[in-house]
Amino acid sequence: MMWCGERECEDKLKEETGATIRCIPFEQENLGDKCHICGKPAKHMIYAARAY
Ligand SMILES: [Zn+2]
Repeated sequence: MMWCGERECEDKLKEETGATIRCIPFEQENLGDKCHICGKPAKHMIYAARAY
C-alpha cells in the first residue's frame, strides 16, 4: 500500500484496521500516487500487517 509518511496516518491505520507498518521496502514499487489512508500524495510504498 501507499503511504504519505505522516505519523497520523500510521496511527489511523492501526486504529481502523489493526494493522501496523512492518517495513518500507528498499525497492519501491509505484502502487499509486495517493496515501491509502488520507488521500494525500504518497511518498512511500509500505508493507503493513495485522498484529496478533
Ligand atoms: Zn496519509
